[in-house]
Amino acid sequence: MKVVHTQGTCGGVESCVEIAPDYFTVDDAGLISLRRSNISDEDLERVTNAVNECPTGALRLAKDTEATHA
Ligand code: SF4
Repeated sequence: MKVVHTQGTCGGVESCVEIAPDYFTVDDAGLISLRRSNISDEDLERVTNAVNECPTGALRLAKDTEATHA
């Protein structure tokens, strides 16, 4: 699995960063940036929690084979 984000929908709440700082960071403009997108098996539950906690729906999980433009 991998995690992707939809540009322009991040509200800078940073709950994703608190849960998984090794995957997410927020830049000076308050926009989300992915440190990495491919999710290891041991991180899947934690990253899934981060996706579910995002209040703006800016994050989602995708299959490795899915084409994304994020
Ligand atoms: S939790 Fe959602 S709104 Fe908050 S920084 Fe992460 S992607 Fe942006």
